[in-house]
Amino acid sequence: MRVVVIGSGAAGLTTASTIRRYNKEMEIVVITKDKYIAYSPCAIPYVICNEIPSFEDIIMHTPEEYKKDRHIDVITESEVLDVDSENNKIIYKDKENNEIELTYDYLVLATGGSPFVPPIEGVDLKGVFKLRTIEDGMKIKEYAENSKSAIVAGAGAIGLETAYALKELGLDVIVVEMAPQILPRALDIDMAKIVMKYLEEDVGIKFIHEKCHTDIRVWSTEGKGLVNKELEDMGIACKIVPFRWPCRKVTLMKNIPNFIRHLRKEKPDIIHTHAYRDHFFSVILSKIFKIPEIFL
Ligand SMILES: Cc1cc2nc3c(=O)[nH]c(=O)nc-3n(C[C@H](O)[C@H](O)[C@H](O)COP(=O)(O)OP(=O)(O)OC[C@H]3O[C@@H](n4cnc5c(N)ncnc54)[C@H](O)[C@@H]3O)c2cc1C
Repeated sequence: MRVVVIGSGAAGLTTASTIRRYNKEMEIVVITKDKYIAYSPCAIPYVICNEIPSFEDIIMHTPEEYKKDRHIDVITESEVLDVDSENNKIIYKDKENNEIELTYDYLVLATGGSPFVPPIEGVDLKGVFKLRTIEDGMKIKEYAENSKSAIVAGAGAIGLETAYALKELGLDVIVVEMAPQILPRALDIDMAKIVMKYLEEDVGIKFIHEKCHTDIRVWSTEGKGLVNKELEDMGIACKIVPFRWPCRKVTLMKNIPNFIRHLRKEKPDIIHTHAYRDHFFSVILSKIFKIPEIFL
């Protein structure tokens, strides 16, 4: 019996390890696009601002350790392109670009989310970054070390952590948020005002909010800034623009979104799981526990 787990984030690796804890025989294969696994994305901003000395410090395990200690195969830098649920197999592209088929008895989808980058002119320019993976963090840190100013798009928790980190590095930081308040999904407006006041007055971060992203564009062919009319009037040119728009559940594999919708009912051998902020969706693990034969 083989279980294939797609994704090596908190959800994928925890699921793989939990299955191993209860089943010593099952072949477990984790496939991931990522180069680095088993790291804490939550710590990335703290490495950017040097509070944690290096990105290596936030990596907990390597694929070799998973193999040696848990008998779990982790295939990195490989993207699953398609799932053939009729024939219980996936097709993935390995790091040498070979397309490989792999059959499964159980399939776990733990593909996480992707930062949503709105269709703004210039977002592909140099100096514009997304922040999700450790590699994104490495690129931002390297670029920030030669920059004087930054605009962070999005005042959710990760946007604010990133803004704080860049400020700690000594950059002038402006946060642009399309909602009328910061932390729009976490705080009521009165609380958000208190946090924003602290960040403005004590930390020195500037905010531009209630600006819909349609009137923002990345300005200059060298990727010098993310500006809207107001920023242009202020004469601000920024060299670094980390994007952290809300994470949407997006997957690049064709066929996946449709069958996730019908998953629970029609395909009990496919399990969809993800970890989100401080709440790991253990409900999904309990679904695994209800498949007794894999834990014999
Ligand atoms: C900067 C930052 C700070 C954060 N801070 C916190 C915090 O303080 N507290 C908190 O609780 N949460 C925090 N989070 C969020 C938390 O990290 C995520 O909720 C969690 O990582 C989600 O885990 P996941 O396993 O569901 O998905 P992910 O970690 O997104 O993992 C998805 C995996 O799927 C793989 N994948 C996707 N598609 C494919 C494919 N087609 N083929 C192969 N592999 C694929 C990816 O390569 C990746 O390995 C933070 C996130 C970031 C980026």
